[in-house]
This record gives sequence, structure tokens and C-alpha cells, in this order.
Amino acid sequence: MYIGHWAAAFAAGAASPKAPKLGTLFVAAQLVDWGFFTFAAIGVEAMRVEPGATVMNPMDLYHMPYTHSLIGCGIWALAFAAIILATQRNITGAWIAGLVVLSHWFTDLLVHRPDLTFAGGDAKVGLGLWNYPYVAIPLELGLTIGAFAWYVRQTRGPLMPPMILMGLLLVMQAINWFGPEPEEAGLALYLTALVSYAVATFFAYWVGTTRRHKRLRG
Ligand SMILES: [Zn+2]
Repeated sequence: MYIGHWAAAFAAGAASPKAPKLGTLFVAAQLVDWGFFTFAAIGVEAMRVEPGATVMNPMDLYHMPYTHSLIGCGIWALAFAAIILATQRNITGAWIAGLVVLSHWFTDLLVHRPDLTFAGGDAKVGLGLWNYPYVAIPLELGLTIGAFAWYVRQTRGPLMPPMILMGLLLVMQAINWFGPEPEEAGLALYLTALVSYAVATFFAYWVGTTRRHKRLRG
């Protein structure tokens, strides 16, 4: 999943006026990928490019026990929730942010081939929808656009900022799906991923400053 992870951020922002701002939720939804590409850059976790690994994605993600095991992801979720609690004194918002972090593993579970673990061991899971573009593409677009529409309906503010954000996400996803495949794993690939997350998060932060939940007074 790529932009599909941000469906959880939009849904959280729609579901509760106590949810953290959209930019924070965007970081939460991709937190373990921020971790993975950073760890890959410094050699703590690892991947390689293997053309045909799955039909839609050439990445062989063979070592990511700290970010993409269920337990590892849970620890990132708890840590992120603790930061929200400490900085915003918002216990509901902390729970929501933690759940958004955790959602990453479950959305990856749908599309990854078996490369995810429960606790970093040998047993690997993944339903492999990346081998079925006719399922994976509508699923990712449907989740993202559906959650986005819900977020826009549950919040008020000018329409242009969220439309710009959604346009940007669709362009990023199109490049990811239909652009040239990476030839090798390395710093350039990891930095490209991290920069793309940063750009999307920057725009989401901006959108969050322009909208208020309809259940908030004033
Ligand atoms: Zn991931």
C-alpha cells in the first residue's frame, strides 16, 4: 500500500473531533515506513529489488522485523500514542493516533506477499493482492477516496486545499504504479520514498489547518 495507508488518517480525522490534526495522522499512518526506509538507509533493516517479486511491486522486503512485525508495529503505535498524550494531553487523540499507526500493518497485510511477521520470526504472512492489480488498484483507490470524502463531509472549510491534497496523492500513486521501476535498492530509493511521505504530510498539515470538525463548536 502507498496512498492507501492515508485512508486511515482521513477516516480518523472524520470519525472524531478529538483526533489529532490531519498532518499528525498522516505521519502516524506511514510511521513504520518512515522507520523502515530510515533503517534500510543505515543497514538495520533491508530490502532488495527483485523484478517480478509481485506483479505490481518489485521489492523483496526480506528483513524488516522492527517495523513490519505486528509486535514491532504495536510498539511504534504505543510510542506515538505516548508522544501525543505527552504533548497534547489528549487521551482520546492518543488512542486514535496509535490505532492509525497500527492500521499500517493490517493494510500492508492485504497487498504484500508473505514478508510480514508477527514477531520478527520465520513465519511470514501477506495476502499478496499486489499480484492482482484488478483487485489491488480499485481497493487502494476506493479506500483512499472513500475515507477522503468522509473526512471532507465531516469537517468544514474551503474545498480547494483538500482537493489539491487528493490530486497530489493521486499523482504520487500513479507514478508509483505506472512510473519506471527502481533498478536497485539504495539510498536514492529510500530518500525518494521518505521525501514523498514528507511532501504528502506537508500538504496534509496545511489541509488540517484549514478545516474544523463539524462537531466542534465555533
Ligand atoms: Zn509498510
